[in-house]
Amino acid sequence: MQLQDRNYQIQGVDVLAIADQFGLPLYVYDADKIIEKIGLLRSSFAGVNLKIKYAAKALTNISILKLMRQQGVEMDSVSVNEARMGMLAGFEPSQIMFTPSGVSFDEIREAIDLGLQLNVDSLSLLEWVGQHYGSSVPVSIRINPHISEGGNIKISTGHADSKFGISILQRPDIRAIVEKYQIAVVGLHIHTGSDFKNADAFLRGADVLFDLASDYPNLKFIDFGSGFKVAYKEGDHITDVADLGRKVSAAFQGFCQQYGRELELWFEPGKFLVSESGHLLVQTNIVKENLTRTFVAVDSGLNHLIRPMMYDAYHDIKNVSNPSGDTKTYTVVGYICETDTFATDRPLPEVRPGDVLSFENAGAYGFSMASNYNARFRPAEVLVYDGAPYLIRQRETFDDLLRGQVDVPVLNSEIIEQQV
Ligand SMILES: *Cc1c(COP(=O)(O)O)cnc(C)c1O
Repeated sequence: MQLQDRNYQIQGVDVLAIADQFGLPLYVYDADKIIEKIGLLRSSFAGVNLKIKYAAKALTNISILKLMRQQGVEMDSVSVNEARMGMLAGFEPSQIMFTPSGVSFDEIREAIDLGLQLNVDSLSLLEWVGQHYGSSVPVSIRINPHISEGGNIKISTGHADSKFGISILQRPDIRAIVEKYQIAVVGLHIHTGSDFKNADAFLRGADVLFDLASDYPNLKFIDFGSGFKVAYKEGDHITDVADLGRKVSAAFQGFCQQYGRELELWFEPGKFLVSESGHLLVQTNIVKENLTRTFVAVDSGLNHLIRPMMYDAYHDIKNVSNPSGDTKTYTVVGYICETDTFATDRPLPEVRPGDVLSFENAGAYGFSMASNYNARFRPAEVLVYDGAPYLIRQRETFDDLLRGQVDVPVLNSEIIEQQV
């Protein structure tokens, strides 16, 4: 028996009431959770000149970007379109870091024209920037420090075979290109993946950059990327942000003294800021007893939340409608014609057709990776802010599925007689 003394609430707002008001399936984000995480980062790094650059790809809704801006957070983008959304949300282009990986020179040019802070991910891009812009475009350089630690290989980016960054072993090549074109290097960057458990890996990455910094006397910032591990289930080993803050701050202060100037310390968290804030609310369509398992099929699938299938991610599930039902074991699946399992053999309070379930920790890489696969609508999105729920994205309609499709008249004739 799982007992709850009151209904499931977000900032005092009943989740079932939100479901009633906005319909299902629905992404609901709790602004307070996001603000809490920002505060935790700030207090952990109180001793340094910290800048938080929200990695917008985790959750790209403009209202979320506005919330970040309101909280004094800046932005990291991986495409010019993301940056444009950031500008619509009110960010200055100079507050937006652009960290492309393998994008076209046309897009790089656009980013430079917009005035974004360019983060260079390859020697060939560095050469190109030098050739076309000389010293006029200040760049940050993304280094691959060849550190990898634990985590899922699909989201790990710091190992030697990763496509990301310029190898630290190419340090002389970077320097040669920079000198040849007098490129203004204002930042050094690492982002080594998404699953660091402790401060040590960060510190090893930091040491690599601190050492490299001696090549570049005009730095403004050192950017440690992200990699904060968040809890998806109880007991998960997560990044201890306070501990990280203490250790990295101390190391950074030491470095700044040696460097001779105080630099800015940047982080680019995505998941850490928004994961916990998000809930994907779905409705139970069918409870199906098979020979070996009881399946719960809901009105959602990998088209709305792909993390379980793509990363084997665990998402806690709450039965919002029947929180004190007897515990039974279910395999929770979606409605997509494809294996789309959310959870296997999961104990849940008894699930009945119509029950509303909530997939927890769905704020990061949930909606932003959603698709229209199987010609399904993507969910609506709601932000609970200051105790009130606001619709921040409408539910899609059939017209949304057709938008952009072109009617070709030659295909509109009657059935053509078949050759036998
Ligand atoms: C994706 C990404 C991040 C954010 O990673 P999280 O694991 O969501 O915190 C930060 N920086 C860069 C360059 C990224 O590509």
